[in-house]
Amino acid sequence: MPVHPRLSELHSTHTAWRRDLHAHPEMLYDTVRTAGFVADKLREFGCDEVVTGVGRVGVVGVIHGQSRVSDRVVGLRADMDALPINEDTGAAHASLNPGVMHACGHDGHTTMLLAAAQVLAETRNFDGSAVLIFQPAEEGGGGGKAMCDDGLMERFGIQEVYGMHNMPTLPVGSFAIRPGPFFASADEWIIEVTGRGGHAAMPHLTIDPTVVASHLTLALQTIASRTVDPMLPVVVSVTSFRTASDAFNVIPPSVELRGTVRALSAEAREIALRRVTEIATHTAATFGATATCREYKLGYPVTTNHPLETQHALTAARAIAGNEQVNANAPAVLGAEDFAFMLNERPGAYILTGNGDTANLHHPAYDFDDAAIPHGASFWIELIEQRLPLGS
Ligand SMILES: [Zn+2]
Ligand SMILES: [Zn+2]
Repeated sequence: MPVHPRLSELHSTHTAWRRDLHAHPEMLYDTVRTAGFVADKLREFGCDEVVTGVGRVGVVGVIHGQSRVSDRVVGLRADMDALPINEDTGAAHASLNPGVMHACGHDGHTTMLLAAAQVLAETRNFDGSAVLIFQPAEEGGGGGKAMCDDGLMERFGIQEVYGMHNMPTLPVGSFAIRPGPFFASADEWIIEVTGRGGHAAMPHLTIDPTVVASHLTLALQTIASRTVDPMLPVVVSVTSFRTASDAFNVIPPSVELRGTVRALSAEAREIALRRVTEIATHTAATFGATATCREYKLGYPVTTNHPLETQHALTAARAIAGNEQVNANAPAVLGAEDFAFMLNERPGAYILTGNGDTANLHHPAYDFDDAAIPHGASFWIELIEQRLPLGS
């Protein structure tokens, strides 16, 4: 089955939903209108259960198959939130909410899962239950974690879980996935280097924190080059270097460094966490200064696809798109993804679907390509019918 015939019939309706969501973007946990839109639609379709307020504003819909012999439950997840970007698409359905924009295509993700829910509720051509998960706050707010912490997996008896993201540059109707680490962990830290300020003409009477912080910036690069196994990707970036002084003749008393660590394994992430602090403390001590790690914020963990479920996703994608249009060995990405928390709780997989040659994700000119809706939604339907076959 390439694209489900019902989805072709309903394409203009689904396009209208997507554009309505696009025109009304909401950030983080403010996705109240979007969650209301989703819950109304799920009730309209006749879902067996519609639960709101999971993980603050997340929505969950449950659809039972025409038989429930096996008691099997599969979760499908979409994200609903937008970004703090001023839209520059010039589209008729452009954001009506200044400074907020669906620049990551979560309007498309929400629509694709709603479209699949509509058809699954009509056909119910499966055995067991499909759980549709609509999460808030994927863009840095940990909405997926909030839903997990709210007992998502246990409350709905989810046994395996799948997520999907659109990808510009991949042709519409194509898919890409890989087993194992797919998206990186993303952590952030702030280090304060304290020396002794003074006159720039008398450096011997000071402990210059800018020199210490410069050594530290370089030393932190040895985490990737000399400490972590070269086979384990890790990035340590210093992204901000600030002092309290703007003067030409003052050595400031302290410097604040900010940075990020990205890794594709728990092992590399763990080593970086330990070494950032150790290198800061000891580099500062070398110069008689002190360094304190004021904050080390652990963000999203590594998004790791489970091998068996990656195969299941591949089989469904190939049934929709054919072998040629499915990349089973997609390169890993050092961006981070909140779906990682769900994959830490249940076996599952995360897959990319093509969004053609629109601008890149998080760009003010990006707009989700509506032609992708029936492909992504067909994948969801196919996956449910394959994972929950009738007569099993
Ligand atoms: Zn994004
Ligand atoms: Zn996104």
